[in-house]
Amino acid sequence: AELTNQIAAGEVIERPASVVKELCENSIDAGATRIRVNFINAGLQEISVQDNGSGIAKDQLDLAFTRHATSKISTQRDLFNISTLGFRGEALASIAAVAHVEILTNTSGANGVSAKFAAGKKLGQEDAAAPQGTKIVVRDLFYNTPARLKYLRSERTEILKIVDIVDRLALGHPEISFTLTNNNKPILKTVGRDDLRLDIANIYGRHLAEKMIKIQGQTPDFKISGLISSAQDTRSTRNFISFLLNGRYVKNYQLTQSLISGYGSKIAAKRYPIAVINIELDPLLVDVNVHPTKQEVRLSKEKELERLITQTITDTLLKNET
Ligand code: ADP
Ligand code: MG
Repeated sequence: AELTNQIAAGEVIERPASVVKELCENSIDAGATRIRVNFINAGLQEISVQDNGSGIAKDQLDLAFTRHATSKISTQRDLFNISTLGFRGEALASIAAVAHVEILTNTSGANGVSAKFAAGKKLGQEDAAAPQGTKIVVRDLFYNTPARLKYLRSERTEILKIVDIVDRLALGHPEISFTLTNNNKPILKTVGRDDLRLDIANIYGRHLAEKMIKIQGQTPDFKISGLISSAQDTRSTRNFISFLLNGRYVKNYQLTQSLISGYGSKIAAKRYPIAVINIELDPLLVDVNVHPTKQEVRLSKEKELERLITQTITDTLLKNET
């Protein structure tokens, strides 16, 4: 069973950034308005995520760390109707299978609880004073799966991947204040005032954010909104284009292409706009169950959405010129 756990864990937890993503998504699902992330040694020595969300009740703790026990999917229909970020109930179990995990959590007023897990087993649990919310500390990631360690890239690359995922989560949730520190040295702070432009200023720079253009458009099935750079403010990679489906950051090549083609001939070859686009849609139109990390999604009516994106960008840029 332990081997099965480690194999399954490898699908969800590929690298330190995966831990950061899963823990932050849990905090978002728990209704947190403040999320603090700190890591040491590119996350291999330590990753901690602290939130002020709902907390986990004492008698729910074991369940939370058991694979699939908390799966929010109970019927086939649910598979296509997922509005929380988590839904497989495998992140905490997977992390505890490949690292040392300490949790301190409190649902409200009275005492909270602290517990330790390693190699998928609980080592102990006790009552503990704690503020409302949850703090999870993950140490010695992949200590028992050396093959996975070899797979990792340079320290710098792994750090960039952590920063990238927190950037995108923050952009998807301007209503939440995110703080990211590397060994307690600040990297990123967003204020959580539900102001996307302010978050972009903190992440990509004030000068750029001030010049970004608002976009808005809709069809019967999709509503899109967000900020895009003008044809002058471009970068040499597509990494500054983010799509959020109902607040979930996704990678989708076709959507990116439809955004770029909205710029038509205005953008020089090998240059790409900076954009953050929120897409609101009926969750029934999304199948997020394509990939274990949930970053790739399949969409119904994708052509309709692609046309909407291209058209909205073209119209917005035209209006902005006049
Ligand atoms: P999933 O998110 O897919 O349900 P996880 O393994 O990520 O599975 O989390 C298991 C469960 O633990 C969640 O469903 C939630 O009930 C609880 N949980 C995890 N993290 C938090 C948190 N930060 N605050 C409150 N509850 C949490
Ligand atoms: Mg989760």
